[in-house]
Amino acid sequence: MADMILVVAEHEGGSPRKITYELLNAARDLAATWDYEVAVAVMGDAMDEEALAASLGAHGAEIVFALSDEALAAQAVEPATAALQQLIEAEEPEIVLLGQTALGRGVAPRLAAALGAGLVTDATGLQVEEGELLVTHPIYSGQAIATLKIVGAPALVTLRPNTWRGEAIGGDAADVEAFDLDELPEGRAELLSVESAGGDRPDLSDAARVVSGGRGFGGPDNFHLLEALADTLDAAVGTTRAVVDADWRPYDEQVGQTGKTISPQLYVAIGLSGAIQHLSGMRTSKTIVAINKDADAPIFRVADYGIVADLFEVVPLLTEELQKVR
Ligand SMILES: Cc1cc2nc3c(=O)[nH]c(=O)nc-3n(C[C@H](O)[C@H](O)[C@H](O)COP(=O)(O)OP(=O)(O)OC[C@H]3O[C@@H](n4cnc5c(N)ncnc54)[C@H](O)[C@@H]3O)c2cc1C
Repeated sequence: MADMILVVAEHEGGSPRKITYELLNAARDLAATWDYEVAVAVMGDAMDEEALAASLGAHGAEIVFALSDEALAAQAVEPATAALQQLIEAEEPEIVLLGQTALGRGVAPRLAAALGAGLVTDATGLQVEEGELLVTHPIYSGQAIATLKIVGAPALVTLRPNTWRGEAIGGDAADVEAFDLDELPEGRAELLSVESAGGDRPDLSDAARVVSGGRGFGGPDNFHLLEALADTLDAAVGTTRAVVDADWRPYDEQVGQTGKTISPQLYVAIGLSGAIQHLSGMRTSKTIVAINKDADAPIFRVADYGIVADLFEVVPLLTEELQKVR
């Protein structure tokens, strides 16, 4: 068993996604406790491995395993799972960290089953107590936090995006090691296209700032007020299920139990009541600001800052003032 923590990188065209740096940050903290090596698995086809090694090294990676195969280019889960299984069986890391993302959600359970390994998903905390790794994650729609110990190795954990910082530490470029893969299976689902739903706005799943609007907006035509505020803050747009069910906004903007689970630095909740199913998708946000005309709305119970007012007065004013300072 190697004293290694393996991070499964995600990248776009060879440029690491934010979640990769967050995983590295979490790995670094654990590695410091145990003096483990921090390794990164990068999957793809025809990648610029040297550029990746420089940026990953700056975030604490010591070694980059390049898993290169044309079967990995389409981001299908079956070949990705098989490639990672081969690497993990060869290198025997103690801990494997993935993002709670489309890739991580697809790959981690398959990998756990293939390896007979323990898995905790959607982790929001990692601690070491008496030499053991304890993983916390929210349960019951975020009403409680469970702490789990994974028995045996490797311990597989998917981490909730935006929960760890992702800053660079200025390390040297990581060593790159090409890992020879045996033949990979074909994916059973083929990626046909990817279209950004939010246009130029940040992706809701990993945006640092989110502005969400509920039924208080009164109809689809009034959401331009919310979009103006979101654009001023360089934020993604979120919404509630009531709004989606009414066809005012698309489903991919829905936050909550049956929508997306997010954890941005700033969550601005406007004209939404804060139903438990909505809170379960955003209550771990760092700073929550609520605007609602009802002072008893449940959203104020989780908000750090609250404005009791009519959104049609406050939102345009807020946008105007923010535009002056930004
Ligand atoms: C199984 C299940 C799963 C669900 N999953 C989800 C989910 O994933 N996400 C989700 O969001 N919901 C989900 N729901 C629905 C959830 O229970 C609520 O019905 C929904 O979140 C309410 O949406 P809302 O806050 O927009 O509307 P409302 O509850 O109607 O709240 C509107 C709010 O706007 C305020 N308001 C009105 N006018 C103004 C104004 N002019 N200025 C300021 N404030 C104003 C009101 O005071 C009120 O608080 C789920 C429900 C079930 C049963």
